[in-house]
Amino acid sequence: MSGPNSDYDPVEVAALQPEAVDAARDAALAAIRSAADLEQLKQVRADHAGDRSPLALANREIGALPPQARKEAGQRVGKARGEVSRALAERQEVLQAEHEARILVEETVDVTLPTDRLPVGARHPITTAAELIADIFVAMGWEVAEGPLIEAEWLNFDALNMGPDHPARTMQDTFWTSPGGDADIDDVHGAGTGVVLRTQTSPVQARTMLTQQPPIYIVAPGRVFRTDEYDATHSPMFHQVEGLAVDEGISMAHLKGTLDHFAAQMFGEGVTTRFRPSYFPFTEPSAEVDLLCFVCKGTGTTDGQACRTCRGEGWIEWGGCGVVNPRVLVACGIDPERYTGFAFGMGIDRTLMFRHGISDLRALFEGDVRFTSAFGSEL
Ligand SMILES: [Zn+2]
Repeated sequence: MSGPNSDYDPVEVAALQPEAVDAARDAALAAIRSAADLEQLKQVRADHAGDRSPLALANREIGALPPQARKEAGQRVGKARGEVSRALAERQEVLQAEHEARILVEETVDVTLPTDRLPVGARHPITTAAELIADIFVAMGWEVAEGPLIEAEWLNFDALNMGPDHPARTMQDTFWTSPGGDADIDDVHGAGTGVVLRTQTSPVQARTMLTQQPPIYIVAPGRVFRTDEYDATHSPMFHQVEGLAVDEGISMAHLKGTLDHFAAQMFGEGVTTRFRPSYFPFTEPSAEVDLLCFVCKGTGTTDGQACRTCRGEGWIEWGGCGVVNPRVLVACGIDPERYTGFAFGMGIDRTLMFRHGISDLRALFEGDVRFTSAFGSEL
């Protein structure tokens, strides 16, 4: 037996039963109504009107029906799909309008509200002071020189006429990153090969003299390190500025004139310096530099009271200086018969302290923006 299956009843195709089509339509309409936003509606559209949705699948079944059955089934499915499609379009319109209304509210900018102003940072007073000092010397034709913070022991000490027995080389004063040699600092042959955190800016002088021939005019501001306690007047890290001039015919008089000019530029016209005899290994003769008190102008009193800046002395200790020891010139390869030089050094932190009446050194290092912002507009 063969031939067409005359018993085939198209009405029996399950997906095309009126109840099945109605159920698919009702499910689609319910899902559309409950879609709360455009994202959900997009999913509903895929589930109920997409290629794999029940109504789309039912629509495909129509082609398999005998021609006489197609019309009715086609109308039924087409009507259901049309209802779903219209419902989707209406819901889309409603949700789109809601979405736009919400954006208008949520993204409204109230131009009358005060802004969250970020406070403008201030440059650290040590930075500005170091730059001011450098500017004063650059204006005289000097150069700014820099050197490494981790320095060869030989450059930090030996080259500056600070022999192996110099007290500054003991472990109490110096941070050693490598002791060098046999680590016995009393042994001349073992000395000079270690590595230290520089205890002074002076190795910058040695580096300059080793690499340049005179005339040399350099100023070197920078950080230095010593094993000091951290308290109101001491810090294991502080800042120095160092100057060096090496040329033919340089004398102590040039040194005095340079420092007087420096003082006047830094503290005001008429502020001068005085020298007191002293000793430093790398200069001979050597002197302590005092600054005429820029508040009381050397009188020691302000408004009938003892001046607080100089404690009634009229002068403020500022730094050290002297004529470069010929042994330093020799160590750095400069002919001491032809050239002479002068050098000076002072603490930048200390200078700032008495210049601005800062009583605690730690205020300079603790990073409190309330402190630094007070210096914000300074040079
Ligand atoms: Zn004073």
